[in-house]
Amino acid sequence: MHRSVESDVAQIPFVDLDYQRRLLEPRLRSSIEAVLSHGRFIMGPEVQELEDRLARYCGAAAAITCSSGTDGLLMSLMAAGVQSGDAVFVPSFTFASTAEAVAILGATPVFVDVKEDDYTLDPARLVVAVGEAAQWGLRAKAVISVDLFGQPADYGSIEPIVDEFGLVLIADAAQSFGASFLDRRVGSIGHLSVTSFFPSKPLGCYGDGGAVFTDDSGLAEALRSLRVHGQGNSKYDNIRIGLNARLDTLQAAVLLQKLDIFDAELLKRREVAHRYDQFLTQTIRKPSTRPEVESAWAQYTIQLDSATRSGVMKAMREQGIPTAIYYEKPLHLQPAYSEFPKAGSLAVSEHLSDAVLSLPMHPYLDEATQMRITEALDFALAHAR
Ligand SMILES: *Cc1c(COP(=O)(O)O)cnc(C)c1O
Repeated sequence: MHRSVESDVAQIPFVDLDYQRRLLEPRLRSSIEAVLSHGRFIMGPEVQELEDRLARYCGAAAAITCSSGTDGLLMSLMAAGVQSGDAVFVPSFTFASTAEAVAILGATPVFVDVKEDDYTLDPARLVVAVGEAAQWGLRAKAVISVDLFGQPADYGSIEPIVDEFGLVLIADAAQSFGASFLDRRVGSIGHLSVTSFFPSKPLGCYGDGGAVFTDDSGLAEALRSLRVHGQGNSKYDNIRIGLNARLDTLQAAVLLQKLDIFDAELLKRREVAHRYDQFLTQTIRKPSTRPEVESAWAQYTIQLDSATRSGVMKAMREQGIPTAIYYEKPLHLQPAYSEFPKAGSLAVSEHLSDAVLSLPMHPYLDEATQMRITEALDFALAHAR
C-alpha cells in the first residue's frame, strides 16, 4: 500500500450543513424549545404554519407536508388512484424512489430515457412510451418527471403530451424546491408535485421530511387523509387505506427557520454555479441550463469520459476534494427494477451513469475553495489523460 496523502491536506465537505447550522443556531434552538414546551409533537401548530408558508412560496393552492419525499410520491400516486395494471412513465436516470413508489403499489414503472444535455425526461421518448403501453397490456396512467440536480424538467413539451393522453403529471421536485419554470415556481407545476426535506436537499430539515403540492382541492383532501391512515372526518373513521406519513412538528419548526434564509441561499447557490462555469476549462462538459428555467442547483454535475472518471475522482480525493456520482447505475439496470418495461433504448441513461461527476455544492462555498476545486480537477484531468 502506498502512503495516503489524504491526511495531509484540508478536507472540503461535499455539502456543508454545519455552516448553516451555526448561522441559525440561536433561532433553531428557540424554535425547537418552543415545540418541547407546547408538547404537540404530532401535527402541532408549526406544521400548519409551514404548510401555509410553503404553499404561498410556490403559488400552489395547498401544501401537504409528509414524512419524506418517497412517501410524498407514494401518497401522490395513491391520491391519483394509481393501481395494478397502470403504467407510470419514469426516467431511468434518477434516484430509486421515483420508480419504487410506483412498484410498491403494484403498478408498473415504464422506464423512459432522458436528454443528454439536461438529464431530464425526454419528451419525444415519452410520446413513444405512451403509445407502447398497450402492447405490455397496461393502461397509460401517469408520468413522474424528475427535476434532476435542481433543474425543472422540460414542462413546455411534457404538459401538452400529458394533456393529449389524459395522464396525471406528478413532478418529482425532490431536488428542485425553489426552482422555477417560466414564471411558475416548482410546486405549482403538474397535478401534483413532491419535494423532499432530506438534510442535503436545497431545503433540508434535520431528519426525513417532504411535502406534496397541488391546486386540486379533491387531491389535497385525499392527501391529508392518506397521511393519517386514510382518516375521514374523525380520528377513528377510516375511509380509505392510508399510511402513517406525517411530518414531525420538530422538523416543521426547523424548516420554518430555514425557510427564512432560503431565498438568500438560492442566490448563493446560483453564484456558486456561475463561478464553477467561469473557473472550469472549456474542455469539460458543464451543466447546460435551459433559458426558460431557473435551477435550484442541488448539484453541479459535469461529464467526463468514462475512462478518466475514476482516476480523476481518486486524484481529487487525494487533494481533499470529495466528488460524487449521481447515479452510478440507471434504474432499469438495478436488480430490483430490471424486469419492468423499457420504452425503447435507454442508451443516454446508461451513458450518463458512466460519465457524470458532481462537484461539491452548497450555498456557502467560497471563491477560494472553488478555485482550489477547479485547479485540482484540471490537474487531475491533465494527469488522467
Ligand atoms: C431525494 C429524492 C427522493 C426521495 O426523497 P426522500 O425524502 O429521501 O424520501 C425522490 N426523488 C428524487 C429525485 C430524489 O433526489
